[in-house]
Amino acid sequence: MRKNDIIELDITAASSEGAGIGRYENKAIFVPLTAIGDRAKIRILRDKKNLAFGKLEELITPSANRCEPDCESFSKCGGCVWRHISYDAECEIKENKVYEAMRRIGGIDMKPQPLIRASDTERYRNKAQFPISEDGSVGFYATHSHRVIPTPDCRLQPQVFSSLSSALKEWINKTGVTVYNEETNSGLVKHFYLRNADATGELMAVLIINGDNIPHRELLISLLREAAGENLKSVQLNINKKNSNVILGEKNILLYGKEYIEDILCGVKVRISPLSFYQVNRTMAEHLYNKAQEYAEPQGKNILDLYCGAGTIGLSMAKDANSIIGVEIIPDAVKDAIVNAKENGIENAEFICGDAAKAALQLKKRGIKPHAVIVDPPRKGCEEALLNTVARDFCPERIVYVSCDVATLSRDAKILETLGYRLIEYTPVDLFPRTAHVETVALFLKLSLPDGK
Ligand code: SAH
Repeated sequence: MRKNDIIELDITAASSEGAGIGRYENKAIFVPLTAIGDRAKIRILRDKKNLAFGKLEELITPSANRCEPDCESFSKCGGCVWRHISYDAECEIKENKVYEAMRRIGGIDMKPQPLIRASDTERYRNKAQFPISEDGSVGFYATHSHRVIPTPDCRLQPQVFSSLSSALKEWINKTGVTVYNEETNSGLVKHFYLRNADATGELMAVLIINGDNIPHRELLISLLREAAGENLKSVQLNINKKNSNVILGEKNILLYGKEYIEDILCGVKVRISPLSFYQVNRTMAEHLYNKAQEYAEPQGKNILDLYCGAGTIGLSMAKDANSIIGVEIIPDAVKDAIVNAKENGIENAEFICGDAAKAALQLKKRGIKPHAVIVDPPRKGCEEALLNTVARDFCPERIVYVSCDVATLSRDAKILETLGYRLIEYTPVDLFPRTAHVETVALFLKLSLPDGK
C-alpha cells in the first residue's frame, strides 16, 4: 500500500478523535468523516509502519447509522466530528471508547454504566472563544490549523452568540480597528469570548486584545447591547499581548455592567468570571454532579474537592455534608468559590488557592481526614504524587474521580488500584454531543485489608 492508492475498506470502529477505522493488510486505516458500517473507497494519504491515514473518496455502501449533516461548516471547522451519524450511534461509540480505555490503559475489564445521554444535542454550549478573521467575521479554526473558518451560526451555541458576533463585525468594519495577525504579531483584536448563564439568561462578552485599550468603546457597547438586549450584563476587555496558543491573558478591564455573570447549578447560585472554569453544558453538568454526589455519599461527611474551579461540585453537596474543602490553582476561581459559598449562605465550606498536590500535603499537615475525596483534574489527569497523598495519607473511604479524558482516568485508575483502591463503578456522561469528548465519573472504594488497616 502506498500514498495515493485507492482501496476499498469496511469501517468497523471509531477512533477516540472521531475518525472511522478499517483494517487493511493488517493495518488500522483512520478515515475522518466515515461511519461504522460504511463500505467505501479510500485514498491513502499517509502510510506509517503500523497504521495509515486516508480520505473518503466514495461511499460504496453507506452505514445504516448515517444521517444528513445539518451544518455548512461541518467537516471544515474543528468543532463537531459526528454530524453525519445518528445520536444513538454516537452514544454507542462513546460508551465503547470509555470501556476500551479502561480495559486497555487501566487494565480493568469492567463495563461502564450506561452513558447518561444529553437531553439536548443542539445549542448546549454556554461558552465560545472565537478567533476573528481579517474582515472581522468570527469563526472557528479549521481542524489542526489556525485558519479561521467563518461560522455565522454554530448549532452547538445559543443563537444570541451569532447576533453578538455580527455586532462585533459591524464595529470592526465601521471603525477600521485592526485584527490581530499571528504571523506578524500585530493588530489589535484577537478573540471574541462569550459566556451565557443558561438558568438566568445573563450574558458576558469579552474582547481579547493585543494592547491596553480600544478606540470607540461606546460604539462597541451600544452595538453589543442592541444585539443582545437586557441580558447582556458584562462587557470586558482582556489583555493578552503574548503571541502564544493561550487565548486569555490575566488582566481584565470592565467596559460595561458587572465583572461576572450569575448562573444556577444544582440549586446553587454561581458567579462566573472571565477566567474561572465553568462547565460548558450546564444541564448535563447537573447530571454529572448528581452522579458524583451519589458516588461520594456526602451526608454528614467531610469532603475534599480537588481541582474545584469556582467550587461548584463541593457546593452542590454542602447542605448534606459536614464540611467541604475545595482546592483550585486559579486565584479568580477561588475568589468566585468563596463568594459563591457566601451568597448561598453556605458556612461549612473553605477554599484554598494552590496546586492540588502541594495543598494536599499542607492539608495532611493540618491533620485533615476527609471521608471522600473528589478529583476533577484537567485532561492531563492527576499527578502521581497527588494520588499517593490522597490514597496513603488521607485514605478516604471513597474517591470520586470526575474526568474529561478517559485515557488519563484509566491511567490513574490503574495507579489507584495499586494503592489499595478498587474501581467499583463508572459512568460516562455526554456533556459534549456531536464532538468526540465524553465526561466520565468513577467511584473507587478503599479495600479493607484483612489486618484491619
Ligand atoms: N470541578 C470544577 C472544575 C473542573 S476543571 C467544575 O466542575 O467546574 C479543572 C480545574 O482544575 C480548573 O478550574 C483548573 O484551573 C484547575 N487546575 C488545573 N491544574 C491544577 C492544579 N495543579 N491544582 C489545582 N487546580 C488545578
